[in-house]
Amino acid sequence: MTDHSTPSTPDGGGSATFEEPAALEDPATLEDEADAIVVGAGPGGSAAAYHMARHGLRVLLLEKSEFPREKVCGDGLTPRAVRQLVRMGVDTSAKAGWMHNRGLRVIGGGVRLELDWPELASYPNHGLVRTRLDFDDLLAKRAVGAGAVLHTLVNVTGPVLDGEGRVVGVRAERGAGREPVEFRAPLTVAADGVSGRLPLALGLTKRADRPIGVAVRRYYHSAARADDDYLESWLELRSREAGDRLLPGYGWLFGLGDGRVNVGLGVLNSSAAFGRTNYRKMLTDWLRGTPADWGLTDEANAAGPILGAALPMGFNRVPHYTRGLMLVGDSGGMVNPFNGEGIPYAMESGELAAEIAQQALARPPGPDRERALRAYPIELRARYGGYFRLGNVFVNLIGNPQVMRFATKHGLPHPTLMRFVLKLLANLTDPRGGDAMDRVINALTRVAPAV
Ligand SMILES: Cc1cc2nc3c(=O)[nH]c(=O)nc-3n(C[C@H](O)[C@H](O)[C@H](O)COP(=O)(O)OP(=O)(O)OC[C@H]3O[C@@H](n4cnc5c(N)ncnc54)[C@H](O)[C@@H]3O)c2cc1C
Repeated sequence: MTDHSTPSTPDGGGSATFEEPAALEDPATLEDEADAIVVGAGPGGSAAAYHMARHGLRVLLLEKSEFPREKVCGDGLTPRAVRQLVRMGVDTSAKAGWMHNRGLRVIGGGVRLELDWPELASYPNHGLVRTRLDFDDLLAKRAVGAGAVLHTLVNVTGPVLDGEGRVVGVRAERGAGREPVEFRAPLTVAADGVSGRLPLALGLTKRADRPIGVAVRRYYHSAARADDDYLESWLELRSREAGDRLLPGYGWLFGLGDGRVNVGLGVLNSSAAFGRTNYRKMLTDWLRGTPADWGLTDEANAAGPILGAALPMGFNRVPHYTRGLMLVGDSGGMVNPFNGEGIPYAMESGELAAEIAQQALARPPGPDRERALRAYPIELRARYGGYFRLGNVFVNLIGNPQVMRFATKHGLPHPTLMRFVLKLLANLTDPRGGDAMDRVINALTRVAPAV
């Protein structure tokens, strides 16, 4: 198979990355071989491919769509995500087109509170906003720049298994003509998002006892709100038309800095309204109650349709490694149950998968390599297991509107408590040498039994 993309150096130079094998008996087959295949070029897949390529692995990144492409998301990046961008060598300056934010504005219970991102050694003190239209394109280009080979318009339809049921490659359909193709490698990473077609083909279904959310979002032109330097989060959504009735979700409003805002809301499966609500109507109901000068009540200001998707949370698909297949990001249900952010966890798990792949592939195939690969789910649980356990409990609690109302009413008026809550919800602490809040949160996540 020939390569459609031009691999280039990290500075965009343009040198081929795959060494030409010396003596090819069957070029058509051997050209498809790589050390690892990564399925899906979202943030998780591109991060995995970038770090693998940086570790010297020959990596194929397969993506069913073509960049740039729209992706349903809030487009909000906390300092945790910024850290991962820095680790991929991305220039996150305002000059490079990034909208910077200073923190989170929380609105609810009649209170409006601005909380700056914490000052930490481990994370920067700012967040970012950037549409996924070019965010994902940019990350895929970083992976290609590091040496990964990207094939777009390749829709992976299933795994190729060896006689023992181990994944040794993937089957796919390429291009508009859906030409059948096959790629082979000793290791495959599923970074195929919430649908998780590849893990599903191995029988890895979502766990019904772990949280999931549904969220919708829409872009609007809003000169009044587009340059907001805080991410805004609404803990209570009300419909004026329905007599100020409380709606069952949580909303956001993020300025994009280009005259537009990303506005959306999410509902958790712990809420009685989950699956029984017209989410699109709920969004417009909420927005009709916002000030007229924001422009969100006027259909003429809408920049595109209302689109929605699911948020798989708290490890809702496991195991994260089995039979030659590693799960990264949404494919492994890694959205943070506390705040619905999934991008940093996708990128972090992608980086971890790359580190473990490097060690594993340096060993001969067999039990020794397998031992190295089995470290991946163990390390994921060690990093996030306790935190996600607390998050899963949190989701169950706030699914009850009375608990949410009580927490909003009694929590929001206390800024110190809310600074603690921000650190907890955004998972932003220093593991060592932090302040008292960091120590409490770190201790809580350590004692909570890992999911
Ligand atoms: C409405 C909404 C708002 C959100 N807001 C935020 C937010 O503000 N901040 C945040 O951090 N997170 C947010 N999230 C969560 C975030 O979008 C995801 O957690 C994140 O995109 C996960 O990244 P990923 O790489 O694992 O998967 P994805 O981003 O879903 O990428 C998967 C990729 O795989 C490709 N693919 C899928 N199947 C195949 C196949 N068979 N063959 C080849 N390619 C395939 C897809 O085309 C896609 O490019 C939001 C989610 C929703 C639904």
